[in-house]
Amino acid sequence: MEFNPYVKKWRKGLKRIALVYPNRYIGGIANVGLQFIYAYLNSLENCICERFYSDVFEGLRSMESGTHLREFDVALFSLQYEEDYFKAVEILERSGFKGMKIAGGPCAMINPRPLKDFFDAFIIGEVEKSNVLDLIVESRSKEELKDLKGIWTGHEERVKRIKPKKLDFYLGKQIIGESAFGKCILLEVGRGCFRRCRFCVVRQIYSPVRWRDPDILLDFAESHKGLVDKCSLIAPSVGDYPDIKKLTSNLIEMGYMVSPSSIRADTVDEELMEMFAVGGLKSFTIAPEAGSQRLRDILGKDLSEEDIMNAASIASEKGIKSIKLYFMIGLPKETKEDLKELIELAKKIKRLFRDVSISINPLVPKPHTPFQWLPYTGFRDFLAGMKELKRRIDFLKKELSREFDVSVSSPDKFAIQTILSRGGEEVCNLIRTRKQSLRIAKDLGLLKYLGEIPVEDKLPWDFIDHGYSKSRLIREYEKTF
Ligand code: SF4
Repeated sequence: MEFNPYVKKWRKGLKRIALVYPNRYIGGIANVGLQFIYAYLNSLENCICERFYSDVFEGLRSMESGTHLREFDVALFSLQYEEDYFKAVEILERSGFKGMKIAGGPCAMINPRPLKDFFDAFIIGEVEKSNVLDLIVESRSKEELKDLKGIWTGHEERVKRIKPKKLDFYLGKQIIGESAFGKCILLEVGRGCFRRCRFCVVRQIYSPVRWRDPDILLDFAESHKGLVDKCSLIAPSVGDYPDIKKLTSNLIEMGYMVSPSSIRADTVDEELMEMFAVGGLKSFTIAPEAGSQRLRDILGKDLSEEDIMNAASIASEKGIKSIKLYFMIGLPKETKEDLKELIELAKKIKRLFRDVSISINPLVPKPHTPFQWLPYTGFRDFLAGMKELKRRIDFLKKELSREFDVSVSSPDKFAIQTILSRGGEEVCNLIRTRKQSLRIAKDLGLLKYLGEIPVEDKLPWDFIDHGYSKSRLIREYEKTF
C-alpha cells in the first residue's frame, strides 16, 4: 500500500504520459527525481502521468489505473542502470507502444548511443527548473524536440547538460511505498560530489556539488510526520553535507529514525554515529573499494586504512551490529598481494562485528571518468584478463566465504555492462536480442568495447558536454600508471 498517492483522473483532451521505470518498484519509488517528474507532470493542466514498474503488471500496465502502455501518448523511461536497457526494450516491444519514446536518467546522461534506435529523444541532465518537461508535453513529433536545450535526438552534434543551479526547491509531497530503503520519507540533501575518485561517474555528471538548505528538508519532514517513522538521507556522499548534524538531530527530535544512503568512512565521527545509532541505524556500510592503500591511491579514493578502521570501531562502539563492505576487483595494476590485503582488512573488521557482509564487483570503466580509457579487467589482453579475473574471484571466494557472507558479481555480466556503457550505436544489435550474453556480444563484434581505448580516439559520448575538460581527465588517467 502507498501513502500519499496522487489521484488524477483521465479525461478527454489530456495528454497521457507514462513514466516507466524498467526495474523493480522498490528502486523506482526510492528515486526522488522520478517523484519530482511525476508530481510536476500531474500538476500541469494538459496532461496526466501514470507510473510503470517492471514488476507491476510486467511493466505493461500503469500502477494507478491499470491502463495499457499502448494507450499513452508519451513514454518517459528512466534509465538508472545499463542492465535495464533489455527490460526497457522488452516493455516497448511487448506493449506495441506507438507514441513518442523518450529516455532520461544517468545512463542517458552518460552515453545514450547504444539506445538510439529505440528512442526518439534523450534528456541529458536534470529537468527540475528547466522547461524540458513542458516542451515534451507540448510537442507533437520528434521533429519539434530537435535542437532544444538538454535534449539529444541523434541529430545534434553537441549537447550541454542541463541542471538546476540551486536545490532551493523540494517535493510538495512524496509518495511513500515499500522502497529499497524501507517505508520512509526520502530527503535528498544534495547532488554531486567534490571528491576525486577516478572511477566515479557521479562526480562527473552531477557536478558541481549542490546542497539543499536543511530548513527546506525539515519543513518537508514536518509536513509528513505521522505517515512513517523513518527518513533516508540521500546524496552521493551524505557525510560531506555541511548540515548533516543539524538535520539529523532535528529529525530525531521530531521522532524520526534516520539512515544515510551512503556515507564515506572519513566523514564519520563519534557524535554523528551516535545520532545515527539513536536514530535507529542497524547496519553500516563502508566502501573501501580496494584492500590496499596502493590501489586506493590509484583509484583516487583518498581513504586510509585508519579512516576505515576508525569508522568501523566507532560504529561498533555505538552498538551497530552489522557492517557491509564494498570492494572492486579488476583494478589497474591489481596484484594478488592487493587481494591478500583485502582479505586482511576484512578480517580486521570482522573482529569488531558479528555480521560482516562483503560485496565485490568488477570495475566498469565508465564514460566521462579518468578511467574511461581503461581495459575491462585491467589487462590489455581481454581473454587473458577474463581468465585472471575469474581466478582472482575464485581465490577471494575461497578465502572469504568461510567467515563472511560474500557476494561476487559475475565478470561476464559486468563485461556486458561495460559494452552497454562504452559502446556505440551498433550495441543496439545486442540489446535487440534481449540476451545479456557475452558470446552473442562476441558474435556481433562488440568485444572491442572492452579493450583499452587510445586517448586520442573519438569517443561515442564526446558529444555530451558535462563541463569538464578532457585534458584534465587524460592527466588523471596518466597518473594511474
Ligand atoms: S566519494 Fe563517492 S560519490 Fe564522491 S567521487 Fe568518490 S565514489 Fe564518487
